[in-house]
Amino acid sequence: MSLIIGQHVSFKKEDQLEGSVLEALSYGANTFMFYTGAPQNTARVPISSEKTNNGLKLMNENNIDLDNVVVHAPYIINLANSNNFDFNVRFLKEEISRVEKIGVNKLVLHPGSHVGLGVDTGIKNIIDSLNTVLTKDTNVIVCLETMAGKGTEIGRNFNEIKSIIDGINLKDKIGVCMDTCHLNDAGYDLGDFDKILDEFDSIIGLNYLKVIHINDSKNIIGSHKDRHENIGIGKIGFDKLIKIIYCEKIKGIPKILETPYVEGKPPYKQEIEMIRAKKFNENLIDDILK
Ligand code: FE
Ligand code: FE
Ligand code: ZN
Repeated sequence: MSLIIGQHVSFKKEDQLEGSVLEALSYGANTFMFYTGAPQNTARVPISSEKTNNGLKLMNENNIDLDNVVVHAPYIINLANSNNFDFNVRFLKEEISRVEKIGVNKLVLHPGSHVGLGVDTGIKNIIDSLNTVLTKDTNVIVCLETMAGKGTEIGRNFNEIKSIIDGINLKDKIGVCMDTCHLNDAGYDLGDFDKILDEFDSIIGLNYLKVIHINDSKNIIGSHKDRHENIGIGKIGFDKLIKIIYCEKIKGIPKILETPYVEGKPPYKQEIEMIRAKKFNENLIDDILK
């Protein structure tokens, strides 16, 4: 199996999945991730079966496996805050049914921020919400993302993610998404990724790892900032990221870039080329701007 690499793409109301696939192909990717609507609000257009079918056909023709495609849940959902319990549950259920309609089976979700309620209460709220949302008929795996620990974010370390998973009734509906920028900012040294994987395996279990977001970071280890940087020009650097991307133990897991646009231009084609070549492009920014 070769490298499974893609990036965040748009999901526009006119073109939907078909447009997302075309965008991914334009970057030379073999997978992708998208939001089904604006992440910061609740406006959603109905999923078009025509656009979905056109997209699936295009994927089939270009060897993109639906199993490797990821949806990111809107970050307006904060399951750690029980004041919004009814809204959270309703909106997340709706989001899951949209994702199921498209046929994607991985939904990345930020665990949430406890907003002063405390970590334990936040984790309890996340568990209660997920146990209400997930049923035996749920056809997606909700992948909790490892977070940078900005503000009161939960999921700053593997123990917090593990505590959430421990409380989930239907454990086959839950997974984890690692984010390299977030790990760095949370205090993990990506220079020793084997050690991180060992720790993940002993605390959570490697079988729970479903997605990896590959991002460089604008900030140093432990900064708790969460500001993504283009591959190779941040504080993590190209060599460490390449080792993670090509790590044998996580070979089959989709790698998704969420690096920033450069002056309005997507960086993904150039970043993917550089990753495939395993050689840092000194002219990355110039090439993106060309
Ligand atoms: Fe995220
Ligand atoms: Fe991420
Ligand atoms: Zn982030």
